[in-house]
Amino acid sequence: MQLIFEKSRPGRRALALDPLDVPPVELPAAFRREAPPALPEVGEFDVVRHFTHLSRRNFGLDSHFYPLGSCTMKYNPKVAETVAAHPGFASLHPHLSTTPAYWDACQGALELVHTVEGILAQVGGMEAACLQPMAGAHGELAGTLLIAAYHRDRGNAHKRVVLVPDSAHGTNPASAAMAGFDVVQIPSTPEGLADLDRFREAMNDNVAAVMLTCPNTHGLFEPQVAEIAEMAHAVDALMYYDGANLNAIVGKCRPGDLGFDVMHFNLHKTFATPHGMGGPGSGAIAVGDRLLPYLPGPRVERAGEGFVLREPPKSIGRMAPFFGNFLIAVRAYAFLRHYGGDGLAAVAENAVLNANYILARLRGAYRPAFEGTCMHECVFTAAAQAEKGARALDIAKALLDRGYHAPTVYFPLTVKECVMIEPTETESKETLDAFCDDMLEIARLADTSPEALKAAPGSLPVTRLDEVKAAKDLNCASLP
Ligand SMILES: *Cc1c(COP(=O)(O)O)cnc(C)c1O
Repeated sequence: MQLIFEKSRPGRRALALDPLDVPPVELPAAFRREAPPALPEVGEFDVVRHFTHLSRRNFGLDSHFYPLGSCTMKYNPKVAETVAAHPGFASLHPHLSTTPAYWDACQGALELVHTVEGILAQVGGMEAACLQPMAGAHGELAGTLLIAAYHRDRGNAHKRVVLVPDSAHGTNPASAAMAGFDVVQIPSTPEGLADLDRFREAMNDNVAAVMLTCPNTHGLFEPQVAEIAEMAHAVDALMYYDGANLNAIVGKCRPGDLGFDVMHFNLHKTFATPHGMGGPGSGAIAVGDRLLPYLPGPRVERAGEGFVLREPPKSIGRMAPFFGNFLIAVRAYAFLRHYGGDGLAAVAENAVLNANYILARLRGAYRPAFEGTCMHECVFTAAAQAEKGARALDIAKALLDRGYHAPTVYFPLTVKECVMIEPTETESKETLDAFCDDMLEIARLADTSPEALKAAPGSLPVTRLDEVKAAKDLNCASLP
């Protein structure tokens, strides 16, 4: 595919201006370029075709099913985009909020921040929420910094250990380490659950916090969360909830009620922001009463009829400029209002139903990594296929040829040759059936002619990449 610069021909233009009907005026020399900018010279049709063609090479939910486990790639209602594009939100100057004299001019935005934080706190079963963190990982950092502030304030400097199960997302131990803690990894049981005995062995007065994901990244609800919370609280350790999988339980059960003290939401996974490839995101956090005084500031508070900004008494300070990615909060507002409490519960019910449907249809051909039913995602192991020569990676590449984004295959690290599928609540039975039919066909190929899968993908502009070069030699001239 040619660059638009390669399509350039001297003198060709997309736009011809009418002759001037006023006398021309020379720009002062100080403002003039010495040489014209190096822009491509192309006709209007060339420009339109070039960019239309490029846009069709995008892979996204508007065109394809995207069963990427753990990432919750679901349809986000377009009405949320319309609301976020409202000039009253989109054109607002962020510095209005930093100058008390201008607070009058941004009361609507402040009210929205206050309302979304209130709803998130309610959904999480927490006391208060804060929209500042810009991604899930950033929320984890904010949450672990809050935990550090809490222990410091109580004179518990020896509490330096954070317990994290081995199924956790890599950001969990990384965030805890960045906040200054020592991470101790707790192995999961063979059933894929948090191991209560291992937690009991590791729990002592040096433990500052436990970080858990529930349902965990094996797609399983942790039935012993309340026991772990009780054990942690007995030594004044706090419970951190990684909310990336909230799509499975939103509206059905609340992390605060399970014993968690602090959590993050991935608004870009659960609450209506399209994502992928690096943001923008929002990792809003919510806390119970223990951590309330330490929240990042300033906070929007109601004062009489209006809203003002105040610093929490022992705030850890800012985690982000202004209110984080404000327009993502606007999308979340639209989504939360659109669905309401019952609608959110239906999100979780359908997400879990869809994942179990896939689990049931594929379990004869691919071995489930764990027994029983799953929550919002199902995890298989392609170990049997790999023995015959078709690895999880080959299965993922074969799916690309059939018009799907690949499922997650390198995570969780606890499952060999992992194929982790998250259909979300927004896919129809027809889409799930077509996907399962293709997965079953790929399983047959893996059995009879695994070498056919090794050649995939054959239909895309970029075929099988040398993975090392893809990471280290990006300036690759050989792409078609
Ligand atoms: C996505 C994810 C995160 C990190 O969230 P980001 O918004 O990508 O920073 C943390 N934990 C789990 C389980 C996740 O799936």
